Amino acid sequence: MQGGRVGIVGGSIAGCAVALAAARGKADETVVFERATGELRERGVGLAVNEDRYAELEAAGFVDDGMPWAAVSSRRWFAQGEESALGREIATVPFRARAYNWGSLWHELRRRIPAAVEYRAGAAVVEVRDGADAATVALADGNEERFDLVVGADGYRSIVRASLFPDTQPEYAGYFLWRGTFPVERLAELDGLLRRGERWSAQEAATVGVTGGHMIAYRIPDTTGINQVMNWGLYGQAPASALGVKLDEPTSIPPGTMTDTLLDYLLAQADDLLPPYWAAMVRLTDRERFFVQPIYDLEVPGYVGLRTLLAGDAATITRPHAGAGATKALQDAATLDRLWAQASDWPELLTGYGAARLPVGRAAVDLGRRIGRDQVVDAPQWTDLDPAGFQAWLASTMRSDTVGGRSLAAR
Ligand SMILES: Cc1cc2nc3c(=O)[nH]c(=O)nc-3n(C[C@H](O)[C@H](O)[C@H](O)COP(=O)(O)OP(=O)(O)OC[C@H]3O[C@@H](n4cnc5c(N)ncnc54)[C@H](O)[C@@H]3O)c2cc1C
Repeated sequence: MQGGRVGIVGGSIAGCAVALAAARGKADETVVFERATGELRERGVGLAVNEDRYAELEAAGFVDDGMPWAAVSSRRWFAQGEESALGREIATVPFRARAYNWGSLWHELRRRIPAAVEYRAGAAVVEVRDGADAATVALADGNEERFDLVVGADGYRSIVRASLFPDTQPEYAGYFLWRGTFPVERLAELDGLLRRGERWSAQEAATVGVTGGHMIAYRIPDTTGINQVMNWGLYGQAPASALGVKLDEPTSIPPGTMTDTLLDYLLAQADDLLPPYWAAMVRLTDRERFFVQPIYDLEVPGYVGLRTLLAGDAATITRPHAGAGATKALQDAATLDRLWAQASDWPELLTGYGAARLPVGRAAVDLGRRIGRDQVVDAPQWTDLDPAGFQAWLASTMRSDTVGGRSLAAR
């Protein structure tokens, strides 16, 4: 199948990757409508793609070694404890992943889109109407355009999803992820807290169990890809309305918009809950580098309409624990790429895509929910876990799923 007009709503990770798939599928014309103007790259923090998922996506041609990344080789788990400023180490487990800065990953995908694709920044879509032979995109400037296929890659608050499934809404999971970054050179300021011989090496990710949640930390490239920054995240329940965060619809507090109320709450939580090294890490973060994400998840009844399909977070939102957000978006595009080469018409492409991706999206949502339950909402008494108890607990919470979600080859 070749030719036709493809309209993509949203030009982030999913949108850029789908644009690449459409170009490879030899669509006559592909237009990406991105509401934001200018570079998005300063707005992100970290994400990790596990090595197995990376290898599949690399083979499919959606990621490559030229995209700046930082290697993660193991994950050290800590609990509160007097043993060290790091806390008490419970266990170290192998964990092979590539850690990315969302901003540089987006930038690298964006610049791999062929010039023939029109990437229209500052173009907000207000409505999508699906039809048997075409789908129509209505823009905020009053214009309308018809396409053979419209892809909703417009993220967690997708209007394309709302047009297909008006009754399906993201659900608040009951807790926040507080995030931040700072240049790795500043870690030296924490050295004085560590005892002689104690170290935390560059390829180690850390998970620190706290009452009602946990903290994670690992290195990522900075937005230029040249240097590294420390990326941390603290999961825990928070009194949203007292903190001035309205949750009636999905929201996030991007870098640079942290209020005094939120900052005071976070710093008090960090001091109360975390071993000294990790609390000091939160305090090393400059105010404009904090990012707060109330956690949501969402399952849809289907991924496709007649001439409309959903990709990335527009299709399913999985909690960040699953490490599957960007991976799933890239897999959606890689699946479209594969099917584009096989399908003989648009309905066949849509049907094949829906059948392939709906179960994978659901599995990723389930994985995120399970980890959220076991490591935040019903988190264990981390301080009681000894190495053997920890291994049994870990096997029960992660089961056979790997972080990163299902393989691209899974059908
Ligand atoms: C600025 C930004 C920073 C992020 N940082 C991180 C991070 O650090 N770590 C992480 O794990 N995840 C991050 N995410 C989320 C991450 O990108 C997604 O979880 C995942 O990668 C899937 O991406 P997506 O393209 O489906 O959705 P998103 O990344 O949410 O992208 C949706 C895109 O659609 C555009 N859009 C929405 N509505 C419309 C409309 N009506 N008309 C036109 N365009 C529209 C948005 O501007 C956005 O660019 C970030 C997302 C954004 C937008």
